[in-house]
Amino acid sequence: MNNYRQINRKDLEAGGILIGRILIENENYVIDDVTIPTQYDKRTRNRFKRNPKGHQEYYDDLFRETDGRCFYLGEWHTHPERLPRPSFIDKRNWKRINELKFETEDLFFIILGTTDLKVWSISKNEDKIILLDREDKNG
Ligand SMILES: [Zn+2]
Repeated sequence: MNNYRQINRKDLEAGGILIGRILIENENYVIDDVTIPTQYDKRTRNRFKRNPKGHQEYYDDLFRETDGRCFYLGEWHTHPERLPRPSFIDKRNWKRINELKFETEDLFFIILGTTDLKVWSISKNEDKIILLDREDKNG
């Protein structure tokens, strides 16, 4: 994902899906792999619209190869700003995705700014988008 940070003025937004597992020992989520933009995605300076084509095939292959141990965990995309904040469209997309059926209770959404990376999560049956941020917690 780091290769797609919008460091330069002309860099376009990029994105993909997060693929990972839940560890049995501690129920932690682990992101094992991500997809990267394909020629079918719509990319502009301020917008990334993922086309399932390419991402879906990559995911299907990995799901099969790992006997379903690795599954869909969410989405990532870049923003041309230092501290990334989700746009109205981002939040609407995330909530729409959360209404679909997946293997997990929680979904994760990463936005990569030019310097900072932030992660939000949504739980099934909850409409609330939560920022997972170490810096926001005391200790
Ligand atoms: Zn965005």
